[in-house]
Amino acid sequence: MARIFCKYHPTVPARWTCRACGIDFCHRCMQAEGSDTPHCPVCHQAAESLGSGNVIEPFWQRLQAIFAYPLQLHPLLFMLGLTVLGVLIESVAGRTLVGWLVGEIVLYVVFLKYAYVVLERTAAGHLEAVPVTWEAIATELELPFKQFFILFLIYAINASLANSGHTGLLFLSMFLSALLLPASIMVLAIEHSLLSAINPVIL
Ligand SMILES: [Zn+2]
Ligand SMILES: [Zn+2]
Repeated sequence: MARIFCKYHPTVPARWTCRACGIDFCHRCMQAEGSDTPHCPVCHQAAESLGSGNVIEPFWQRLQAIFAYPLQLHPLLFMLGLTVLGVLIESVAGRTLVGWLVGEIVLYVVFLKYAYVVLERTAAGHLEAVPVTWEAIATELELPFKQFFILFLIYAINASLANSGHTGLLFLSMFLSALLLPASIMVLAIEHSLLSAINPVIL
């Protein structure tokens, strides 16, 4: 399926469309509008989602870039650094609470946060590596926690269905979870909104 691009940012894939105006908008255009519920910046009517599928280039079209990406200097050093730190903490303080907190939680959150910056940048078409900066890691550090929350929510829904014994519903729910999770992660990475990332209508 051909991708639809933003009328005002011709290189950026469109995320929303206005039926009334017949105009497609990218996420940036909607941000400029300064509202959480997307409205057409031209006529101010409610805009319709084009689906996150339009924003994401199919992965098989950029397989080469996917494997080349982590071999660039910044991501490579970042992952090496995290690995070395993880091993060090494990050997020095692996059995203490502080060691567990730093080794398991902090490193994971830092890694996820960087992964989100990378996702957001690559989704916008930038394939050169993101420099690992304090700013990239520290701003909007709540993103990984939103991700934890979404995973927990999915787990909780499936677990309660499993406990209730509704096998049919459980399979349906597990199927939907697997289907929607990648889209949910992309929406979270691009829009940073927990509500959008758990709203099946927007995905
Ligand atoms: Zn735009
Ligand atoms: Zn409009």
